[in-house]
Amino acid sequence: MKRIIASSVILTAALCAWAQQDFSKVQIKSTHVAGNVHMFEGSGGNIGVSSGPDGLLIVDDQFAPLAEKIDAALQKLEASGPLKFVLNTHWHGDHTGGNAFFGRKASIIAHANVRKRLAGKSDAPKEALPVITQDEGLSVHFNGEEIRMIPLGPGHTDGDSVIHFTKSGVVHMGDQFFNGRFPFIDLGSGGSVEGYMKNVGDVLQKLPDDVKIIPGHGPLATKKDLKAFHDMLVETTGIVRKAIGEGKSLEQVKAAGFPEKYKEWGTGFINNNRYLEIVYNNLKGK
Ligand SMILES: [Zn+2]
Repeated sequence: MKRIIASSVILTAALCAWAQQDFSKVQIKSTHVAGNVHMFEGSGGNIGVSSGPDGLLIVDDQFAPLAEKIDAALQKLEASGPLKFVLNTHWHGDHTGGNAFFGRKASIIAHANVRKRLAGKSDAPKEALPVITQDEGLSVHFNGEEIRMIPLGPGHTDGDSVIHFTKSGVVHMGDQFFNGRFPFIDLGSGGSVEGYMKNVGDVLQKLPDDVKIIPGHGPLATKKDLKAFHDMLVETTGIVRKAIGEGKSLEQVKAAGFPEKYKEWGTGFINNNRYLEIVYNNLKGK
């Protein structure tokens, strides 16, 4: 348990350092995904946007200092209009930092545990909190399609949802998908390595082959990319589980490392050793 707390403190510190970056140079890049849906990339989690005759709906809103830039990028879309809804995939600050800004003009919807965790932060203004919460899912009927918010069991955190734009054929995975990178699994927020893997597998099974996928982090993806991510999770956790079964220490597992083909996966926010520690500590604790 001590180990879990220690690694969670390190990660929180890393997230804070990330949040203290210079946002003045960040630009919001807008990409049309399919149908009504666009993806915005700036700094932090990718944003999904529905724009059309009913106005705007966004999935996640990155860091607070970027809110006005995100707002300006929204107004530049061909089919713009008022922002009506903000959907949060989970509570992390790189996905909900803009809530206080956007919550003044739109209704925020999230898993009940997102509200709980955001409300527990000492500096959380009322506007930043979701006003509609769910733990069994809900649908928003908007811009001519059903936008389904599907809650997941404990994985990345204990309050993740994926968002399915059913007619546009797009899914926003939140941080249940780091495209081409090792994921952060937040054990301190009720996350679970096995749950994370199960969630990805469950979603993967339900998706049609031609779906376009917005990952929490990394470039726009296909089902093939999500399958590669799942394969990586299965293989790497299998390696760690086997080593634990053989009585190997964390240091020994680190020294052995993961297969060479995963070298590139550790070049993002979560490097090889950090990912390995999360998996080892969580599996060892069971
Ligand atoms: Zn996250």
